[in-house]
Amino acid sequence: MKKRTVLRKAHGNSESNATNVHNRDASNEGNGNDVPDENSGHVSEQSSSSNVASERSGAFVIPGDFIGTTEEFRAGESTYETMGGIYAATTGTTRVDPAHRSVSVFPRTDVPPFLKQGDIIVGQVTGLRESLAMVAIAGAKGVADREISNAAPAVVHVSNIKKAYVKDITNEFGLFDIIKAKVIDTKNMRLDTSESDMGVMKAFCSSCRAPMKLEDSKLKCSECGKIETRKLASTYGTGII
Ligand SMILES: [Zn+2]
Repeated sequence: MKKRTVLRKAHGNSESNATNVHNRDASNEGNGNDVPDENSGHVSEQSSSSNVASERSGAFVIPGDFIGTTEEFRAGESTYETMGGIYAATTGTTRVDPAHRSVSVFPRTDVPPFLKQGDIIVGQVTGLRESLAMVAIAGAKGVADREISNAAPAVVHVSNIKKAYVKDITNEFGLFDIIKAKVIDTKNMRLDTSESDMGVMKAFCSSCRAPMKLEDSKLKCSECGKIETRKLASTYGTGII
């Protein structure tokens, strides 16, 4: 009960807190107890994501995200304005400067410090848009001391999901799925899952959030029996990174 309250609060307060919650789940993925909470928590997060952070600092944004209006703020660094709105020009976190009434984006150029191009990471899908998936990086393959404590936000563009054309991103990734991906651009933290051993390692049913099992090369919900598709890693369900 206590935990439930904390989770709700975290979701309501800021994007970065929400990311931390997801990240904690990623390290804790076998535990299905929190699934309904996560579900309800996420719905509220999604509904607020269209008016990201007009007065909040620290929200993770990607290029094109709405971060405020020109009535509220002046457009600061790494932003652009159009039609009365201020938008992120780069991937990063929002910074509001109350003294100057400006909003800017602090680029994610040096975060996370340990990752380099070609690294293999494991992360959780925290958001899906038409052309990209947002991923909270939970850890990197290899040495244990490269575990990343702060969830590092990253994106998989639809063109980097698989080698074939992707008609609908929701056929490839689901919310809260655990994916394995290769870092292809550390500046904007872009990931690629097109190789056969990359992709979804653990999927969750879009209806009931239960883990999905691979049966006769079909991904089936262990609870409600729903069949879904994903861009699967060849090691799906084995836990092998
Ligand atoms: Zn289900």
